[in-house]
Amino acid sequence: MRVTFVGVGEAFDECLPNTSLFVAGMAGESRRTVLLDCGFTAAAAFFGCPGLSDSDRRDGPDAVWISHFHGDHFFGLPYLLARMQEQGRVRPLFLHGGEGLATRAGQVVDLAYPNLRARLDFELVCLEARPEVPLVMAGFAARAAVTGHGAPCLGLRLETRFGVLYYGGDGAPTPACRDLASGCTLVVQEGYGISPGVAGHGSVAEAVETAESAWANALAVVHVRRELRRERGEAIRRTLAGASIRAFLPEPGEVFEA
Ligand SMILES: [Zn+2]
Ligand SMILES: [Zn+2]
Repeated sequence: MRVTFVGVGEAFDECLPNTSLFVAGMAGESRRTVLLDCGFTAAAAFFGCPGLSDSDRRDGPDAVWISHFHGDHFFGLPYLLARMQEQGRVRPLFLHGGEGLATRAGQVVDLAYPNLRARLDFELVCLEARPEVPLVMAGFAARAAVTGHGAPCLGLRLETRFGVLYYGGDGAPTPACRDLASGCTLVVQEGYGISPGVAGHGSVAEAVETAESAWANALAVVHVRRELRRERGEAIRRTLAGASIRAFLPEPGEVFEA
């Protein structure tokens, strides 16, 4: 499993692209790829991402996961689809996300480019995920659970042949999220705050506690509030260095390989 941090930022960070991960892994005998979240600035970051091969940037992912319908997690879809069209995509693109996915995705794409969906040369397949109901995404077994966020948001467990990922989207981890993180190769959890108690969001402390208690191998903390990452980045890195597992604050373009 190879996880590329396309973006690691929160919603409105002018320096760091919105949090978005590109996952490549084996599903049976086939290499498959998924893009996890595609916000305002994530699609542009994807096409310029130094951690990705030319072919992955040209071909795009097999599937896209939308954790929830906030702009920093799905407003990059029109960009992604239009660029895929320009780059000659013909194979279907599978879009997975929570309840209302087809409507929300259609709305954002139509607002940006009213005729785009009608003239796509590839099929856009929207598949809604339900909490706790197993699903298959790009050939990978997956499961989702509701996080503690202001809008309904799903955390995701994605099982590749050689590594398991948990990606928490936005929000503090709930007991169901902690179950999904159990034994994962990599947990990617937002740390919008430093300590627990941030309304609708998680914290660096909860990310560490979740990954440690889940017996995960590694933790990446993303979506840190921009002022905190800038002004207290060193303190956050020291906290992560003190964890009992490998824990890090990834930079855009960084790659984690299991
Ligand atoms: Zn967000
Ligand atoms: Zn959000």
